[in-house]
Amino acid sequence: MRVVLALALLLSAEPKAKSKPKLVEAKSVVTDLVVDLRYATADNFLHKQVYPDDAKCLLLEESAKRLEAAAKQLREKGYRLKVWDCYRPHAVQFEMWKIFPKPGYVAEPKAGSNHNRGGAVDLTLATADGGEVEMPTPFDTFTGAAHHGYAGGTAESREHREVLKAAMQAAGFTKNQMEWWHWDLPDAKSRPILDEPLN
Ligand SMILES: [Zn+2]
Repeated sequence: MRVVLALALLLSAEPKAKSKPKLVEAKSVVTDLVVDLRYATADNFLHKQVYPDDAKCLLLEESAKRLEAAAKQLREKGYRLKVWDCYRPHAVQFEMWKIFPKPGYVAEPKAGSNHNRGGAVDLTLATADGGEVEMPTPFDTFTGAAHHGYAGGTAESREHREVLKAAMQAAGFTKNQMEWWHWDLPDAKSRPILDEPLN
């Protein structure tokens, strides 16, 4: 009886200690994910490497599971997902803001980006062997051509954008109207900002 009581107390106490959400390595869930973290190189719009060389694609477990749901649909069509950015440490958000303080393109670090919450991912389509697939723009192109609904460019690039959109929306992600590559958990803003190492 005493053991049962102790257990009941233990269980009732647990929800009060709100634990920090855990980040998982996306590739452990989406095993064929192509990982090309641009901020771990100087090949990004900042022209500066802001992630360590051995940075990993980390996400909230829920984001990773939804990503696998999208990848599963795309596999049937002969595509894979290629990620450019996943979880971004809060400290890096301050650094990016220092280099490029433009609201709308870089989230103000105080409010934080959904990338700082593990609830956002930047990605594109890849072929089954990991090759490039034509999209309306390269990553982090902050022009109208990156908007959903952009009717310019080749028909093929627009078709690819729609294939990606259909899979991501079916998996429960929310689009960013101005960036075809950026996808959020619907309630990402309510998740806590995390500052965890990327490697
Ligand atoms: Zn993004």
